[in-house]
Amino acid sequence: MSRDQENRVSARDMYIGGDWVSSAGEVIEVENPATQEVIATVPAATPAEVDRAISAARQGFEDWSSRSPVERAATLKRIAATISERAQDIGRVMTEEQGKPLNEAIGEIQKLADTFIFYAEEAVRIHGEIIPNSDNAYQSLVVHEPIGVVAAITPWNYPAELIGWKVAAGLAAGCTLVVKPPALTPLTPLAIMACLHDVGVPPGVVNMVTGSGAVVGQRLIESPDVDKIAFTGSSEVGLQIQQSARQIKRMSLELGGNCPLIVTSRADLNDAVKGAARRSFRNCGQICIAINRIYVARDVYEPFLDKLRHAADALVVDDGIANPSADLGALCSSEPLSKTKAHLADALAKGARLIAGGDVPEGARFEKGYFFRPTIVADCNHGMMVMTEETFGPLVGVTPYDALTDAVRLANDTPFGLASYFYSKDLDEMRYATRRLAYGNVAVNNVDAGIINAPYGGWKQSGIGHEHGREGLLEYLNIKHIRLCFAEERVVT
Ligand code: NAD
Repeated sequence: MSRDQENRVSARDMYIGGDWVSSAGEVIEVENPATQEVIATVPAATPAEVDRAISAARQGFEDWSSRSPVERAATLKRIAATISERAQDIGRVMTEEQGKPLNEAIGEIQKLADTFIFYAEEAVRIHGEIIPNSDNAYQSLVVHEPIGVVAAITPWNYPAELIGWKVAAGLAAGCTLVVKPPALTPLTPLAIMACLHDVGVPPGVVNMVTGSGAVVGQRLIESPDVDKIAFTGSSEVGLQIQQSARQIKRMSLELGGNCPLIVTSRADLNDAVKGAARRSFRNCGQICIAINRIYVARDVYEPFLDKLRHAADALVVDDGIANPSADLGALCSSEPLSKTKAHLADALAKGARLIAGGDVPEGARFEKGYFFRPTIVADCNHGMMVMTEETFGPLVGVTPYDALTDAVRLANDTPFGLASYFYSKDLDEMRYATRRLAYGNVAVNNVDAGIINAPYGGWKQSGIGHEHGREGLLEYLNIKHIRLCFAEERVVT
Protein backbone atom coordinates (compact mmCIF):
# COMPACT_ATOMS: atom_id res chain seq x y z
CA MET A 1 0.00 0.00 0.00
CA SER A 2 1.40 3.45 -0.95
CA ARG A 3 1.90 6.12 1.74
CA ASP A 4 -0.74 8.24 0.02
CA GLN A 5 -3.22 5.39 0.17
CA GLU A 6 -2.22 4.64 3.76
CA ASN A 7 -3.15 8.21 4.73
CA ARG A 8 -6.65 7.75 3.31
CA VAL A 9 -7.49 4.67 5.33
CA SER A 10 -7.83 4.56 9.08
CA ALA A 11 -5.85 2.19 11.23
CA ARG A 12 -7.64 0.39 14.07
CA ASP A 13 -6.02 -1.02 17.19
CA MET A 14 -6.76 -4.31 18.89
CA TYR A 15 -7.95 -4.71 22.44
CA ILE A 16 -5.92 -6.42 25.17
CA GLY A 17 -6.35 -6.21 28.95
CA GLY A 18 -8.78 -3.28 28.77
CA ASP A 19 -6.60 -1.14 26.46
CA TRP A 20 -6.61 -0.38 22.76
CA VAL A 21 -3.14 -1.37 21.56
CA SER A 22 -1.21 -1.32 18.30
CA SER A 23 0.96 -4.20 17.18
CA ALA A 24 4.65 -4.72 16.59
CA GLY A 25 3.66 -6.78 13.56
CA GLU A 26 2.40 -6.10 10.04
CA VAL A 27 -0.99 -4.68 9.14
CA ILE A 28 -3.91 -6.27 7.28
CA GLU A 29 -5.84 -4.24 4.75
CA VAL A 30 -9.63 -4.26 4.90
CA GLU A 31 -11.40 -3.88 1.57
CA ASN A 32 -14.89 -2.69 0.67
CA PRO A 33 -16.12 -5.59 -1.50
CA ALA A 34 -18.55 -3.36 -3.40
CA THR A 35 -15.78 -1.04 -4.62
CA GLN A 36 -12.54 -2.94 -3.97
CA GLU A 37 -11.19 0.11 -2.12
CA VAL A 38 -9.03 -0.36 0.96
CA ILE A 39 -10.97 1.27 3.80
CA ALA A 40 -8.87 0.52 6.88
CA THR A 41 -6.01 -1.47 8.25
CA VAL A 42 -5.86 -3.59 11.38
CA PRO A 43 -2.89 -5.16 13.12
CA ALA A 44 -1.72 -8.66 12.34
CA ALA A 45 -0.99 -9.68 15.92
CA THR A 46 2.27 -11.44 16.67
CA PRO A 47 2.34 -14.69 18.66
CA ALA A 48 3.70 -12.75 21.67
CA GLU A 49 0.71 -10.38 21.48
CA VAL A 50 -1.69 -13.31 21.33
CA ASP A 51 -0.01 -14.70 24.47
CA ARG A 52 -0.51 -11.32 26.18
CA ALA A 53 -4.20 -11.42 25.38
CA ILE A 54 -4.47 -14.97 26.75
CA SER A 55 -2.74 -13.99 29.96
CA ALA A 56 -4.99 -10.91 30.29
CA ALA A 57 -7.99 -13.24 29.99
CA ARG A 58 -6.50 -15.55 32.61
CA GLN A 59 -6.02 -12.62 34.99
CA GLY A 60 -9.55 -11.43 34.35
CA PHE A 61 -11.05 -14.86 35.03
CA GLU A 62 -10.79 -14.89 38.83
CA ASP A 63 -12.66 -11.61 39.14
CA TRP A 64 -15.32 -12.23 36.47
CA SER A 65 -16.09 -15.82 37.45
CA SER A 66 -16.59 -14.86 41.07
CA ARG A 67 -19.09 -12.09 40.34
CA SER A 68 -22.70 -12.97 41.00
CA PRO A 69 -24.84 -14.10 38.06
CA VAL A 70 -27.08 -11.08 38.69
CA GLU A 71 -24.13 -8.75 38.25
CA ARG A 72 -22.97 -10.52 35.11
CA ALA A 73 -26.53 -10.34 33.74
CA ALA A 74 -26.67 -6.60 34.41
CA THR A 75 -23.45 -6.11 32.42
CA LEU A 76 -24.85 -8.14 29.51
CA LYS A 77 -27.99 -5.99 29.49
CA ARG A 78 -25.88 -2.82 29.38
CA ILE A 79 -23.92 -4.25 26.46
CA ALA A 80 -27.20 -5.01 24.66
CA ALA A 81 -28.46 -1.46 25.17
CA THR A 82 -25.24 0.10 23.86
CA ILE A 83 -25.14 -2.18 20.83
CA SER A 84 -28.77 -1.28 20.06
CA GLU A 85 -28.04 2.44 20.33
CA ARG A 86 -25.15 2.08 17.87
CA ALA A 87 -26.90 -0.32 15.48
CA GLN A 88 -26.98 2.15 12.58
CA ASP A 89 -23.30 3.02 12.83
CA ILE A 90 -22.06 -0.53 13.34
CA GLY A 91 -24.36 -1.74 10.56
CA ARG A 92 -22.74 0.72 8.20
CA VAL A 93 -19.30 -0.52 9.15
CA MET A 94 -20.49 -4.06 8.42
CA THR A 95 -21.86 -3.19 4.98
CA GLU A 96 -18.65 -1.40 4.07
CA GLU A 97 -16.45 -4.38 4.88
CA GLN A 98 -18.78 -7.34 4.27
CA GLY A 99 -21.04 -6.19 1.43
CA LYS A 100 -24.50 -7.11 2.76
CA PRO A 101 -27.15 -4.39 2.31
CA LEU A 102 -27.33 -1.84 5.11
CA ASN A 103 -30.79 -2.77 6.40
CA GLU A 104 -29.77 -6.40 6.67
CA ALA A 105 -26.55 -5.41 8.48
CA ILE A 106 -28.50 -3.27 10.96
CA GLY A 107 -30.86 -6.24 11.47
CA GLU A 108 -27.87 -8.41 12.34
CA ILE A 109 -26.70 -5.88 14.93
CA GLN A 110 -30.17 -5.83 16.48
CA LYS A 111 -30.13 -9.63 16.68
CA LEU A 112 -26.74 -9.37 18.34
CA ALA A 113 -28.26 -7.11 21.01
CA ASP A 114 -31.07 -9.67 21.47
CA THR A 115 -28.44 -12.38 22.00
CA PHE A 116 -26.95 -10.44 24.91
CA ILE A 117 -30.43 -10.03 26.41
CA PHE A 118 -31.15 -13.76 25.99
CA TYR A 119 -27.95 -14.80 27.76
CA ALA A 120 -28.39 -12.12 30.44
CA GLU A 121 -31.63 -13.90 31.30
CA GLU A 122 -30.00 -17.34 31.15
CA ALA A 123 -27.11 -16.19 33.38
CA VAL A 124 -29.35 -16.15 36.44
CA ARG A 125 -30.75 -19.62 35.68
CA ILE A 126 -27.58 -21.67 35.86
CA HIS A 127 -29.15 -24.20 38.22
CA GLY A 128 -27.72 -27.38 39.64
CA GLU A 129 -29.32 -30.63 40.75
CA ILE A 130 -29.56 -32.67 43.93
CA ILE A 131 -29.44 -36.40 43.25
CA PRO A 132 -30.42 -38.90 45.96
CA ASN A 133 -27.93 -41.71 46.54
CA SER A 134 -28.73 -45.37 47.24
CA ASP A 135 -27.48 -44.84 50.78
CA ASN A 136 -29.53 -42.11 52.46
CA ALA A 137 -26.49 -40.83 54.32
CA TYR A 138 -25.17 -39.44 51.05
CA GLN A 139 -26.34 -36.81 48.63
CA SER A 140 -24.95 -35.72 45.27
CA LEU A 141 -24.90 -32.09 44.27
CA VAL A 142 -24.35 -31.29 40.63
CA VAL A 143 -23.15 -27.74 40.01
CA HIS A 144 -21.97 -25.85 36.94
CA GLU A 145 -18.79 -23.80 36.94
CA PRO A 146 -17.24 -21.66 34.18
CA ILE A 147 -14.66 -23.47 32.09
CA GLY A 148 -12.07 -20.66 32.13
CA VAL A 149 -10.39 -18.88 29.22
CA VAL A 150 -12.15 -19.28 25.86
CA ALA A 151 -10.70 -18.61 22.40
CA ALA A 152 -13.52 -17.50 20.08
CA ILE A 153 -12.65 -17.77 16.38
CA THR A 154 -15.19 -16.66 13.79
CA PRO A 155 -15.76 -16.24 10.02
CA TRP A 156 -16.73 -13.22 7.93
CA ASN A 157 -20.28 -13.99 6.75
CA TYR A 158 -22.00 -12.87 9.97
CA PRO A 159 -19.28 -10.72 11.54
CA ALA A 160 -21.43 -9.65 14.52
CA GLU A 161 -23.78 -12.51 15.43
CA LEU A 162 -21.22 -15.30 15.34
CA ILE A 163 -19.04 -13.45 17.83
CA GLY A 164 -22.07 -12.50 19.92
CA TRP A 165 -23.25 -16.10 20.42
CA LYS A 166 -19.85 -16.94 21.93
CA VAL A 167 -19.17 -13.77 23.90
CA ALA A 168 -22.68 -13.49 25.38
CA ALA A 169 -22.89 -17.16 26.41
CA GLY A 170 -19.28 -17.18 27.63
CA LEU A 171 -19.70 -14.05 29.75
CA ALA A 172 -23.02 -15.28 31.15
CA ALA A 173 -21.29 -18.50 32.24
CA GLY A 174 -18.45 -16.59 33.93
CA CYS A 175 -15.74 -17.31 31.36
CA THR A 176 -13.29 -14.79 29.93
CA LEU A 177 -12.47 -14.65 26.24
CA VAL A 178 -9.90 -13.89 23.58
CA VAL A 179 -11.73 -13.23 20.31
CA LYS A 180 -10.06 -13.63 16.93
CA PRO A 181 -12.29 -11.99 14.35
CA PRO A 182 -12.02 -12.83 10.64
CA ALA A 183 -9.29 -11.05 8.68
CA LEU A 184 -11.78 -9.97 5.99
CA THR A 185 -14.24 -8.30 8.40
CA PRO A 186 -12.47 -7.21 11.60
CA LEU A 187 -14.02 -3.71 11.82
CA THR A 188 -17.50 -4.79 12.94
CA PRO A 189 -16.05 -6.95 15.74
CA LEU A 190 -13.82 -4.05 16.85
CA ALA A 191 -16.87 -1.75 16.93
CA ILE A 192 -18.66 -4.33 19.10
CA MET A 193 -15.58 -4.54 21.31
CA ALA A 194 -15.82 -0.77 21.77
CA CYS A 195 -19.36 -1.24 23.14
CA LEU A 196 -18.07 -3.70 25.73
CA HIS A 197 -15.26 -1.32 26.67
CA ASP A 198 -17.63 1.64 26.98
CA VAL A 199 -20.07 -0.15 29.29
CA GLY A 200 -17.20 -1.02 31.63
CA VAL A 201 -16.59 -4.73 31.07
CA PRO A 202 -13.59 -5.22 33.41
CA PRO A 203 -10.08 -5.36 31.88
CA GLY A 204 -9.05 -8.75 30.55
CA VAL A 205 -12.57 -10.19 30.53
CA VAL A 206 -12.89 -9.89 26.75
CA ASN A 207 -9.87 -9.31 24.50
CA MET A 208 -9.70 -9.06 20.74
CA VAL A 209 -6.64 -9.86 18.61
CA THR A 210 -6.78 -9.39 14.85
CA GLY A 211 -4.73 -11.29 12.29
CA SER A 212 -4.58 -14.42 10.21
CA GLY A 213 -5.90 -17.84 11.12
CA ALA A 214 -2.51 -19.39 10.51
CA VAL A 215 -0.73 -17.19 13.09
CA VAL A 216 -3.28 -15.79 15.57
CA GLY A 217 -5.82 -18.62 15.33
CA GLN A 218 -3.20 -21.34 15.50
CA ARG A 219 -1.50 -19.74 18.52
CA LEU A 220 -4.82 -19.70 20.36
CA ILE A 221 -5.49 -23.34 19.50
CA GLU A 222 -2.07 -24.48 20.64
CA SER A 223 -1.88 -22.45 23.85
CA PRO A 224 -1.99 -24.57 27.02
CA ASP A 225 -3.60 -21.58 28.74
CA VAL A 226 -6.77 -21.66 26.61
CA ASP A 227 -9.36 -23.97 28.17
CA LYS A 228 -11.95 -23.99 25.40
CA ILE A 229 -12.12 -23.31 21.68
CA ALA A 230 -15.38 -21.89 20.32
CA PHE A 231 -14.97 -22.01 16.56
CA THR A 232 -17.24 -21.20 13.64
CA GLY A 233 -15.84 -21.68 10.15
CA SER A 234 -15.16 -24.22 7.46
CA SER A 235 -15.08 -27.96 8.08
CA GLU A 236 -11.48 -28.09 6.76
CA VAL A 237 -10.23 -25.63 9.37
CA GLY A 238 -12.44 -27.22 12.05
CA LEU A 239 -10.75 -30.56 11.43
CA GLN A 240 -7.33 -28.93 11.44
CA ILE A 241 -8.16 -27.33 14.80
CA GLN A 242 -9.26 -30.64 16.27
CA GLN A 243 -6.07 -32.28 15.07
CA SER A 244 -3.67 -29.53 16.12
CA ALA A 245 -4.75 -28.97 19.72
CA ARG A 246 -1.85 -30.09 21.87
CA GLN A 247 -3.89 -30.68 25.00
CA ILE A 248 -7.33 -32.03 25.74
CA LYS A 249 -9.64 -29.03 25.69
CA ARG A 250 -13.32 -28.37 25.34
CA MET A 251 -14.34 -27.52 21.78
CA SER A 252 -17.44 -26.42 20.01
CA LEU A 253 -17.10 -26.50 16.24
CA GLU A 254 -19.83 -24.93 14.10
CA LEU A 255 -18.80 -25.89 10.58
CA GLY A 256 -19.89 -25.95 6.97
CA GLY A 257 -23.10 -27.26 5.47
CA ASN A 258 -24.57 -28.44 2.19
CA CYS A 259 -28.22 -27.95 2.96
CA PRO A 260 -31.11 -29.55 1.05
CA LEU A 261 -34.71 -28.42 0.59
CA ILE A 262 -37.40 -30.97 -0.28
CA VAL A 263 -40.65 -29.71 -1.81
CA THR A 264 -43.39 -32.34 -2.06
CA SER A 265 -46.48 -32.23 -4.24
CA ARG A 266 -48.47 -31.53 -1.04
CA ALA A 267 -46.56 -28.31 -0.34
CA ASP A 268 -47.93 -24.80 -0.63
CA LEU A 269 -45.87 -23.99 -3.71
CA ASN A 270 -45.87 -20.23 -3.22
CA ASP A 271 -44.63 -20.59 0.36
CA ALA A 272 -41.97 -23.05 -0.75
CA VAL A 273 -40.76 -20.70 -3.49
CA LYS A 274 -40.65 -17.76 -1.09
CA GLY A 275 -38.63 -19.83 1.37
CA ALA A 276 -36.31 -21.15 -1.34
CA ALA A 277 -35.57 -17.67 -2.69
CA ARG A 278 -34.89 -16.29 0.78
CA ARG A 279 -32.66 -19.08 2.06
CA SER A 280 -30.76 -19.63 -1.21
CA PHE A 281 -29.88 -16.00 -1.84
CA ARG A 282 -29.96 -14.03 1.42
CA ASN A 283 -26.50 -12.66 2.22
CA CYS A 284 -25.62 -13.81 -1.33
CA GLY A 285 -25.88 -17.43 -0.17
CA GLN A 286 -22.93 -16.85 2.17
CA ILE A 287 -24.58 -18.56 5.10
CA CYS A 288 -23.80 -21.98 6.49
CA ILE A 289 -27.52 -22.88 6.49
CA ALA A 290 -28.09 -21.62 2.91
CA ILE A 291 -30.17 -23.90 0.70
CA ASN A 292 -27.64 -25.37 -1.74
CA ARG A 293 -29.83 -27.95 -3.46
CA ILE A 294 -33.55 -28.44 -3.97
CA TYR A 295 -35.44 -31.70 -4.62
CA VAL A 296 -38.93 -31.12 -6.06
CA ALA A 297 -41.71 -33.68 -6.64
CA ARG A 298 -41.83 -34.24 -10.39
CA ASP A 299 -45.49 -33.24 -10.79
CA VAL A 300 -44.79 -29.73 -9.43
CA TYR A 301 -41.22 -29.43 -10.77
CA GLU A 302 -41.77 -27.12 -13.77
CA PRO A 303 -44.29 -24.83 -11.97
CA PHE A 304 -41.83 -24.60 -9.06
CA LEU A 305 -38.94 -23.67 -11.38
CA ASP A 306 -41.07 -21.08 -13.11
CA LYS A 307 -42.07 -19.42 -9.86
CA LEU A 308 -38.53 -19.59 -8.46
CA ARG A 309 -37.16 -17.94 -11.61
CA HIS A 310 -39.60 -15.06 -11.15
CA ALA A 311 -38.70 -14.76 -7.47
CA ALA A 312 -34.94 -14.73 -8.22
CA ASP A 313 -35.27 -12.23 -11.06
CA ALA A 314 -37.26 -9.92 -8.79
CA LEU A 315 -34.45 -9.74 -6.22
CA VAL A 316 -32.54 -6.46 -6.31
CA VAL A 317 -28.73 -6.65 -6.42
CA ASP A 318 -27.03 -3.40 -5.47
CA ASP A 319 -24.36 -1.59 -3.49
CA GLY A 320 -25.57 -2.08 0.08
CA ILE A 321 -24.82 1.49 1.19
CA ALA A 322 -26.32 3.22 -1.87
CA ASN A 323 -29.40 1.00 -1.66
CA PRO A 324 -29.92 -0.10 1.96
CA SER A 325 -32.98 -2.21 1.17
CA ALA A 326 -31.40 -4.18 -1.70
CA ASP A 327 -31.87 -7.94 -1.47
CA LEU A 328 -28.29 -8.84 -2.34
CA GLY A 329 -25.17 -6.71 -1.94
CA ALA A 330 -21.64 -7.59 -3.03
CA LEU A 331 -20.15 -10.94 -2.10
CA CYS A 332 -17.55 -10.53 0.63
CA SER A 333 -14.45 -11.20 -1.48
CA SER A 334 -13.22 -12.63 -4.76
CA GLU A 335 -13.08 -16.14 -3.25
CA PRO A 336 -16.82 -16.92 -2.91
CA LEU A 337 -17.38 -15.26 -6.31
CA SER A 338 -14.83 -17.53 -8.00
CA LYS A 339 -16.28 -20.59 -6.29
CA THR A 340 -19.80 -19.65 -7.42
CA LYS A 341 -18.61 -19.27 -11.02
CA ALA A 342 -16.71 -22.58 -10.83
CA HIS A 343 -19.75 -24.48 -9.49
CA LEU A 344 -21.96 -22.90 -12.13
CA ALA A 345 -19.56 -23.76 -14.96
CA ASP A 346 -19.27 -27.33 -13.68
CA ALA A 347 -23.07 -27.76 -13.55
CA LEU A 348 -23.61 -26.32 -17.03
CA ALA A 349 -20.79 -28.42 -18.49
CA LYS A 350 -22.47 -31.53 -17.04
CA GLY A 351 -25.87 -30.76 -18.57
CA ALA A 352 -27.67 -28.50 -16.06
CA ARG A 353 -30.20 -25.99 -17.41
CA LEU A 354 -29.69 -22.30 -16.52
CA ILE A 355 -32.98 -20.96 -15.17
CA ALA A 356 -32.00 -17.55 -13.78
CA GLY A 357 -28.93 -15.33 -13.30
CA GLY A 358 -25.57 -16.70 -14.32
CA ASP A 359 -23.73 -13.42 -14.65
CA VAL A 360 -22.87 -10.05 -13.15
CA PRO A 361 -25.69 -7.46 -13.16
CA GLU A 362 -25.40 -4.81 -15.82
CA GLY A 363 -24.39 -1.23 -14.95
CA ALA A 364 -21.40 0.93 -14.11
CA ARG A 365 -21.70 0.39 -10.34
CA PHE A 366 -21.07 -3.34 -10.79
CA GLU A 367 -17.85 -2.94 -12.76
CA LYS A 368 -15.82 -3.05 -9.56
CA GLY A 369 -16.75 -5.18 -6.61
CA TYR A 370 -17.86 -8.77 -6.27
CA PHE A 371 -21.44 -8.83 -7.54
CA PHE A 372 -23.35 -11.75 -9.03
CA ARG A 373 -27.02 -12.29 -9.88
CA PRO A 374 -29.04 -14.88 -7.99
CA THR A 375 -28.58 -17.99 -10.08
CA ILE A 376 -30.64 -21.17 -10.48
CA VAL A 377 -29.64 -24.31 -12.34
CA ALA A 378 -32.13 -27.12 -12.97
CA ASP A 379 -31.93 -30.84 -13.88
CA CYS A 380 -28.94 -31.26 -11.59
CA ASN A 381 -27.45 -34.50 -10.26
CA HIS A 382 -24.98 -35.55 -7.60
CA GLY A 383 -22.15 -35.62 -10.12
CA MET A 384 -22.22 -31.81 -9.98
CA MET A 385 -20.38 -29.70 -7.40
CA VAL A 386 -23.43 -27.50 -6.84
CA MET A 387 -25.24 -30.50 -5.34
CA THR A 388 -22.42 -31.94 -3.25
CA GLU A 389 -20.22 -29.04 -2.08
CA GLU A 390 -20.99 -25.88 -0.15
CA THR A 391 -20.98 -23.12 -2.79
CA PHE A 392 -21.26 -20.21 -0.32
CA GLY A 393 -22.53 -17.97 -3.11
CA PRO A 394 -25.82 -17.02 -4.85
CA LEU A 395 -26.27 -20.31 -6.68
CA VAL A 396 -28.76 -23.13 -6.13
CA GLY A 397 -29.23 -26.45 -7.92
CA VAL A 398 -32.66 -28.03 -8.46
CA THR A 399 -33.66 -31.55 -9.46
CA PRO A 400 -36.95 -33.52 -9.69
CA TYR A 401 -37.74 -36.68 -7.69
CA ASP A 402 -40.36 -39.40 -8.07
CA ALA A 403 -40.66 -40.88 -4.56
CA LEU A 404 -40.16 -39.12 -1.22
CA THR A 405 -37.93 -41.99 -0.12
CA ASP A 406 -35.53 -41.04 -2.96
CA ALA A 407 -35.61 -37.36 -2.05
CA VAL A 408 -34.74 -38.07 1.59
CA ARG A 409 -31.97 -40.48 0.57
CA LEU A 410 -30.46 -37.84 -1.76
CA ALA A 411 -30.85 -35.15 0.90
CA ASN A 412 -28.83 -37.33 3.30
CA ASP A 413 -26.23 -38.20 0.65
CA THR A 414 -23.60 -35.82 2.07
CA PRO A 415 -20.94 -35.80 4.76
CA PHE A 416 -22.57 -32.64 6.17
CA GLY A 417 -25.48 -32.43 8.62
CA LEU A 418 -26.16 -28.80 9.51
CA ALA A 419 -29.65 -27.82 8.30
CA SER A 420 -32.35 -29.19 6.03
CA TYR A 421 -35.68 -27.81 4.88
CA PHE A 422 -38.96 -29.49 4.09
CA TYR A 423 -42.16 -28.11 2.58
CA SER A 424 -45.36 -30.18 2.77
CA LYS A 425 -48.80 -29.74 4.33
CA ASP A 426 -49.17 -33.52 4.74
CA LEU A 427 -48.56 -34.66 8.33
CA ASP A 428 -47.51 -38.15 7.35
CA GLU A 429 -44.94 -36.86 4.86
CA MET A 430 -43.73 -34.44 7.51
CA ARG A 431 -43.33 -37.20 10.07
CA TYR A 432 -41.54 -39.46 7.57
CA ALA A 433 -39.04 -36.78 6.54
CA THR A 434 -38.32 -35.15 9.90
CA ARG A 435 -37.54 -38.55 11.45
CA ARG A 436 -35.10 -39.44 8.69
CA LEU A 437 -33.29 -36.23 7.75
CA ALA A 438 -29.84 -36.59 9.34
CA TYR A 439 -29.39 -32.95 10.31
CA GLY A 440 -29.00 -30.99 13.53
CA ASN A 441 -31.68 -28.57 12.34
CA VAL A 442 -34.78 -29.41 10.30
CA ALA A 443 -37.10 -26.54 9.35
CA VAL A 444 -40.59 -27.48 8.13
CA ASN A 445 -42.63 -25.00 6.09
CA ASN A 446 -40.17 -22.26 7.04
CA VAL A 447 -36.51 -21.52 6.35
CA ASP A 448 -35.29 -20.04 9.62
CA ALA A 449 -33.52 -23.09 10.97
CA GLY A 450 -31.64 -21.27 13.74
CA ILE A 451 -33.25 -19.17 16.47
CA ILE A 452 -31.63 -17.93 19.66
CA ASN A 453 -34.08 -19.78 21.96
CA ALA A 454 -33.36 -23.31 20.69
CA PRO A 455 -30.10 -25.31 20.36
CA TYR A 456 -28.32 -24.94 17.05
CA GLY A 457 -25.56 -27.32 15.98
CA GLY A 458 -24.40 -29.56 13.15
CA TRP A 459 -24.18 -33.34 12.82
CA LYS A 460 -21.45 -35.28 11.01
CA GLN A 461 -18.82 -33.02 9.37
CA SER A 462 -20.88 -29.93 10.26
CA GLY A 463 -19.53 -29.87 13.77
CA ILE A 464 -19.79 -30.70 17.44
CA GLY A 465 -21.52 -28.85 20.24
CA HIS A 466 -24.23 -26.22 20.18
CA GLU A 467 -24.83 -22.52 20.17
CA HIS A 468 -28.11 -20.78 21.07
CA GLY A 469 -30.49 -21.79 23.83
CA ARG A 470 -29.56 -23.25 27.19
CA GLU A 471 -27.33 -25.77 25.40
CA GLY A 472 -25.27 -22.87 24.06
CA LEU A 473 -24.61 -21.78 27.64
CA LEU A 474 -23.74 -25.28 28.87
CA GLU A 475 -20.88 -25.33 26.34
CA TYR A 476 -19.10 -22.78 28.58
CA LEU A 477 -19.66 -24.66 31.84
CA ASN A 478 -17.94 -27.57 33.52
CA ILE A 479 -20.07 -29.97 35.52
CA LYS A 480 -18.94 -30.67 39.06
CA HIS A 481 -20.34 -33.51 41.15
CA ILE A 482 -20.04 -32.84 44.90
CA ARG A 483 -20.84 -35.92 46.97
CA LEU A 484 -21.83 -35.14 50.55
CA CYS A 485 -21.83 -37.58 53.43
CA PHE A 486 -24.08 -36.78 56.41
CA ALA A 487 -24.19 -38.36 59.86
CA GLU A 488 -27.63 -37.35 61.06
CA GLU A 489 -27.37 -39.72 64.06
CA ARG A 490 -24.81 -37.33 65.61
CA VAL A 491 -27.53 -34.76 66.28
CA VAL A 492 -29.99 -37.31 67.72
CA THR A 493 -29.60 -37.42 71.49
P1 NAD B 1 -12.50 -20.40 7.68
O1 NAD B 1 -12.57 -21.75 8.30
O2 NAD B 1 -11.55 -20.21 6.57
O3 NAD B 1 -12.13 -19.31 8.79
C1 NAD B 1 -12.86 -19.15 9.97
C2 NAD B 1 -11.97 -18.50 11.03
O4 NAD B 1 -10.92 -19.41 11.35
C3 NAD B 1 -11.30 -17.21 10.56
O5 NAD B 1 -11.24 -16.29 11.64
C4 NAD B 1 -9.91 -17.69 10.18
O6 NAD B 1 -8.94 -16.66 10.23
C5 NAD B 1 -9.66 -18.76 11.23
N1 NAD B 1 -8.65 -19.75 10.88
C6 NAD B 1 -8.26 -20.13 9.63
N2 NAD B 1 -7.28 -21.06 9.74
C7 NAD B 1 -7.09 -21.29 11.06
C8 NAD B 1 -6.24 -22.16 11.80
N3 NAD B 1 -5.39 -22.98 11.20
N4 NAD B 1 -6.31 -22.13 13.15
C9 NAD B 1 -7.18 -21.34 13.78
N5 NAD B 1 -8.01 -20.48 13.13
C10 NAD B 1 -7.96 -20.47 11.79
O7 NAD B 1 -13.99 -20.06 7.26
P2 NAD B 1 -14.50 -18.78 6.45
O8 NAD B 1 -14.15 -18.92 5.02
O9 NAD B 1 -14.09 -17.54 7.16
O10 NAD B 1 -16.09 -18.95 6.65
C11 NAD B 1 -16.90 -19.72 5.84
C12 NAD B 1 -17.18 -21.09 6.46
O11 NAD B 1 -17.76 -20.94 7.76
C13 NAD B 1 -18.20 -21.87 5.66
O12 NAD B 1 -17.78 -23.20 5.52
C14 NAD B 1 -19.46 -21.81 6.50
O13 NAD B 1 -20.36 -22.88 6.32
C15 NAD B 1 -18.88 -21.81 7.88
N6 NAD B 1 -19.86 -21.28 8.82
C16 NAD B 1 -20.47 -22.15 9.69
C17 NAD B 1 -21.46 -21.66 10.56
C18 NAD B 1 -22.17 -22.59 11.53
O14 NAD B 1 -22.85 -22.07 12.42
N7 NAD B 1 -22.08 -23.88 11.39
C19 NAD B 1 -21.79 -20.31 10.56
C20 NAD B 1 -21.15 -19.47 9.66
C21 NAD B 1 -20.17 -19.97 8.80
